[in-house]
This record gives sequence, structure tokens and C-alpha cells, in this order.
Amino acid sequence: MITKINQDAMIIRLLPERRAWREILYENLKYNVETLKSLLPKNCRFMAVVKADAYGHGAVPVASYLNRLGIDAFAVATVREGVELRLHGIRGEILVLGYTSPHQVHLLTTYDLIQTAADCVHARALNEAAYYPIKIHIKLDTGMHRLGERSDHIDEIASLFACKNLQICGAYSHLCAADSQTMEDILFTKLQITTFFQTIDHLKSRGLNPGKLHLQSSYGILNYPDLPLDYARIGIAMYGCYSTPEPKLSEQLPLRPVLSLHARIAAVKELCPGETVSYGRNFRAEVPMRIATVTIGYADGLPRSLSNKEIPVLLRGQKTHIIGNICMDQLVIDVTRIPNARPGDIVTLLGTDGPHTLHAEDLAQAAGTITNELLCRLTPREE
Ligand SMILES: *Cc1c(COP(=O)(O)O)cnc(C)c1O
Repeated sequence: MITKINQDAMIIRLLPERRAWREILYENLKYNVETLKSLLPKNCRFMAVVKADAYGHGAVPVASYLNRLGIDAFAVATVREGVELRLHGIRGEILVLGYTSPHQVHLLTTYDLIQTAADCVHARALNEAAYYPIKIHIKLDTGMHRLGERSDHIDEIASLFACKNLQICGAYSHLCAADSQTMEDILFTKLQITTFFQTIDHLKSRGLNPGKLHLQSSYGILNYPDLPLDYARIGIAMYGCYSTPEPKLSEQLPLRPVLSLHARIAAVKELCPGETVSYGRNFRAEVPMRIATVTIGYADGLPRSLSNKEIPVLLRGQKTHIIGNICMDQLVIDVTRIPNARPGDIVTLLGTDGPHTLHAEDLAQAAGTITNELLCRLTPREE
């Protein structure tokens, strides 16, 4: 009997009752953090972005592991995600990147979270609602036009420094085309960078201290590494993925995927020529076949849009593929060429088995999305 499940993937694999599950390779996470850290300028700190359950990797175990590696700055999307980390003992700074209702302002002080001021209106509402000073990073809009106060609204931004319940300890912006290598997007990104530093200089020239500064996320660091900033907010690259299969990067880093995804064979059966598989009868056998039903479906986060695309999967060190429509809880694979396939066998949808590796970049592209979305939506029901 295995009682204590540790983080060793091999032991997890031995649990025979697992239905569909993720494995997290912490040594790869460590490798990616170290590789990315080596790109950062000397005084720039690594802020690990662990929003959306650490892009589907598990926010609490990932942040705990990163704490042990010495990472002491985190970013989450929501105040609840920040609270969750604190309740599990995560130390260091936690920045909430998204909007927090002024009604939740007490959570920021109770759990020592840093809140993003989505704009000046938001900042003033938080200031009014707070009983004690709250830590704030001011977000500046330098061209993405999502969150952030327009960077040319200097007077309004400057006025926030007089709010008695706002302890302004940082200012940041977000690049919206840092992954692109087109001349137009490169010029746009450079303009965002210039605008950010000019706005900071304006504030400083008024004797105001905007605190810690940050601008780059994964692609920002990969394509624009040498900026004099205090943090880099790293998400997808830390998990060992690029957003798409062919990132057009000036320098491509050899990152290692952290997550793998597995399920099991539930049943194996024969198929006669002319018979069809799954809903909609979209797959039809031309020849006698053997097929296997696998314990994972779109309710586990595997996009239904991967149906009928011969998506590769791994079984017993061999490569085969999905056939027919993906169902809510199950899918079907071709095992004609894997005669020893048995119920209970492990099927790998992402990750390595034998000589083969399946990459999230390819699966995401086949599903018409990016790895960020594919990974953060994975919710395999383990039993
Ligand atoms: C999600 C997010 C990040 C991390 O982005 P990656 O591309 O995954 O590195 C950084 N900054 C902000 C504001 C974000 O919302």
C-alpha cells in the first residue's frame, strides 16, 4: 500500500485507481526557473505568475516548491487566489494582477497582498474603502488598453500619492505584442517601453517615488531582456512552454515542459469494416481494427475541438491517435498496431512515454488555441 504520495511521478504512476491525472516534473520547473533567471538583469527579481492554479499545474504545490527554491515574489489574478496561497503558508510578496472589489479590501490587509490599481478610479475606491493602508502597484496603460490608467494622465496618477490609505510600492505596465517579430509590433513594443519609462520619469520629477517597476512577462523577457526593472512577471515560460509551436524568438531557450497528462484504457474492442466510432459517427473503420476507450474527455479539460484530427497519444512507448468525437468523459483511440494494449494501461496525452514526447504547443495549436488556455483549463477527475 502506498500511503504517502510524494511528488515523484513514478509513484503516482503506480496508483492503479487513477483515472485521469497530471504529473508535475518539479526538476523541470527548477531548470526553467534557473534558465530564465539567468536572462534577467542583475537586480531584477523573478516574479512567478501562479494565477489560474499555476496555469493548471497546481498553485499551492508549485508556489511552495518555488518558495523552497528561494522565489519570494508571486503574481495571481484574483484576491481569492492570493488568500489561498497565504492559507497554505506561501511566503513573500503576492501581487494581485486583476481587479479587486472595494468590498474585498479587508482581504488585502488581512493576508498581506499587494493590489493592482486598475486605474485611478479603482485606486480611489480602494482608498475610500480601506481602514488601514493597503499596498498598491499602479498599473499604467501604455497601449494594451485593458487595465491601467492612461500613462499621459500624469496629474491624476500623481494625485494618488496623496491618498492616505494607499501605500504605493510599485508601478507597472503590460506589453501586448512582445511575442511578435513583425517590424510594426517591435516598434509598438518599443514605444510601450519608452512610454512607461517616460511616465515614471515624470512622476519622479515631481518628487514622487513610484517604487518597484516591472513590465515584461515571458515573451517580454525572451525578446526584450535588458531593461532596468525590478521584477519580471514570468508565467508560461516557467512551465516550460511557449504559447505556440513556432515562437519567432530572437533567441529560443531550451525550456522543459513541466506538466504531463495521462489517462487509462477502460476497454479494448474489435471493429469490423464499415462500423463507426463515437457520437456523430464521424470515424468509420475501413479495415478490421482494434480500438480502446480511454478515461478522459472534454469535462477533464481536453478540448472537444480535438475530435477527428488524428491527435497523437502514447501507449506502451508507441504512438497512436484519437479517433472519432471526443466525449465528455471518454475518448477512443486506435490500438490496431499495439496488440498488447490492455484495460488499465496508461495513455499519455502530453509528455513522454518511451522514445516519444507530446508537446502542449502542438495540442494547443490543433485545438485552435495557445498553451496558456489549454493548460489552465485542464481539470482531470482523478478517480
Ligand atoms: C498572465 C500575466 C503575466 C504572465 O504572462 P506569461 O505570458 O504567461 O508569462 C504577466 N503579467 C500580467 C499582467 C499577466 O496578466
